[in-house]
Amino acid sequence: MSTSSGPNAGSVLIIDLTRGKVVKREVSSETVKRYLGGRGFNSKALFDMVPGRIDPLSPENVLALGNGTFAGTVLPMTSRLHISTLSPLSGILGDGNAGGEFSAMLKFAGYEQIIVTGRAEKPKYVFIEDDEVEIRDAEELWGLTTGETVDWLRDEHGDEVSVAGIGPAGENLVRFATTMVDKYHSGARGSGAVWGSKNLKAIAVIGTKGVEPADPERFYEMAKEDIDYFNRNEFVKRIYSVIGTHYGLIQWYPSWKYFQAPLSAEELPVGLRPQDLAEYEVGRTQCFSCPLACKDVYYLPSTGEYGTSSEFESIYALGSNNCIIDTEAILRMEHMADEYGMDVMTLGDTIALARLLHEKGILSGEELEGLSLEWGDAEGQIQLIEMTAYRKGFGDKLAEGYRNFAKLYGDEALAYCYDVKGVNRGWYEVDFINGIFTLSHATSTRGADHLRGRSWAYWENDKLMDIEAVKRMLEAGLPDYRKDPVGALIYGERACTLADSLGRCKGSINSWLQAVPLVWKYPVFKGTAMLLTAFTGIEFTEKDVIDATDRIYLTEMAFNVKQGIKKKHYDVKFPPEFAATERAKAQVRRHWELVDEYLERRGCDVETAYPRRETLEELGIGYVADQIEEKEFPEWDGPVREVA
Ligand code: SF4
Repeated sequence: MSTSSGPNAGSVLIIDLTRGKVVKREVSSETVKRYLGGRGFNSKALFDMVPGRIDPLSPENVLALGNGTFAGTVLPMTSRLHISTLSPLSGILGDGNAGGEFSAMLKFAGYEQIIVTGRAEKPKYVFIEDDEVEIRDAEELWGLTTGETVDWLRDEHGDEVSVAGIGPAGENLVRFATTMVDKYHSGARGSGAVWGSKNLKAIAVIGTKGVEPADPERFYEMAKEDIDYFNRNEFVKRIYSVIGTHYGLIQWYPSWKYFQAPLSAEELPVGLRPQDLAEYEVGRTQCFSCPLACKDVYYLPSTGEYGTSSEFESIYALGSNNCIIDTEAILRMEHMADEYGMDVMTLGDTIALARLLHEKGILSGEELEGLSLEWGDAEGQIQLIEMTAYRKGFGDKLAEGYRNFAKLYGDEALAYCYDVKGVNRGWYEVDFINGIFTLSHATSTRGADHLRGRSWAYWENDKLMDIEAVKRMLEAGLPDYRKDPVGALIYGERACTLADSLGRCKGSINSWLQAVPLVWKYPVFKGTAMLLTAFTGIEFTEKDVIDATDRIYLTEMAFNVKQGIKKKHYDVKFPPEFAATERAKAQVRRHWELVDEYLERRGCDVETAYPRRETLEELGIGYVADQIEEKEFPEWDGPVREVA
């Protein structure tokens, strides 16, 4: 294996599917310093390349796949692939990151990022082997599931190939179709439909060049400290590497019956307990260079299939939120979603919303053509999942995804739609963890999300948290959320932006405490600055790292301004019955006070929520202000459609 000389050796691959051309562009040290990698590179590319208010399924949209800065290294959990696009689900920034091997392979092939533009006339896939990049016919692959696609490409190119691509849901433009990596690793928010709209089935990559830090001795010394931390962490050893995130079923109050009741550990029905899931486990697996191995491998006796990653989110969304408690049926649904390439949370929440609307008489029985929307009907839900992936019958409506689905039934249905900027979230009272949980959903630049800036909020309530590390961080300047909720949120948003840009997994024990390398030893941004300097050979200070995260976040806010996002879209939604109460009204007032303070401290205009010119200029991105300042963009109301 030959070696390259650090991240600056990598290039950006720009693949124009309309013309069938591939261009390589070098990445400068300045770009690494200003945008770090992964999410940072992608968000800049989207802002620069995607116009405001276009149809996300038109050829003008761009698909960006970015490695984190530390991809392919031994630093734990740092080979996440960040996938960004204008989301066909929400009509704003849509990004997600997926594990597997792809990111490391792409790095070994010498690339930091892939940008896909245009639309091919016929189905294509891209094959990358180091410097060789080819756009190939994919007519034989079109229609295959994600697993079949990976098997086909491995038969063709060898077992070491890593694959990102889509299943039938992406081909059928299901608005919450995902990009799937190496069969089982999913990146959400509808990017799969963008692949489908571009007639791009997959990208397969083999890289042989390796990665060499600029200062290997220093870098490996710090990486070893980080690895050792996980190896001696009791929670990792006893729970995370043994059970995985479905441990959260007894910790995070999974929703029952469309967010009507959170279930405590004592209330969990048989079928949804971690030990029920453990009965199906036959092994464990992990992403590249991850010592945690949080993912279970399960076997389904009824179908003879193997799947992986029975996560908290999939079990609550497909299971408890739909009142389904049949363990094997839930695992089978999750596996179907992976094979068809759909996001489990939007899938499960949309079906649960359909059940609620049916129960309330807002959705009539006629269009169901005999289908059941009874709570707890597992066999019916399996049928609905398949119909959604292929947009058959009623599944064509479900395939629109949550808020777009509710819009089909008018304002009465929208009143039960608990989204932020088009993305499903469930609902929480504003005083839940002093308002910050809801605020973090409202300020997330990709719509409602639990991994954009919130994990700090749990520190004293979450048994998973390393409390000693939190105490050290409070001493080092982490704002206490009880005294300074907005300060704590901004800190959390910076940390999550950093993790996504470095390629570090935020699923690691559900906390940016571990999602940022060395954070248990140094203040959040200091340890990372040291690692970045050792790895890239570029001098990073703590301030450089903080500024980079703010540059990325404000670029994303400006991207959403171009998509028509106004201050009103930072709102909080409650069920209509609760929204009418004085208690709810007081919480809404409190929420808007927090939003105002947040916008002020982020350097945005409090009336419009646009980032201010002086803020952008201070970060060296005045050109962003040129594109949004004093401009009126048509108000956002979900994704634009060229054909109504
Ligand atoms: S913690 Fe789990 S999801 Fe994250 S990198 Fe490790 S194996 Fe992958």
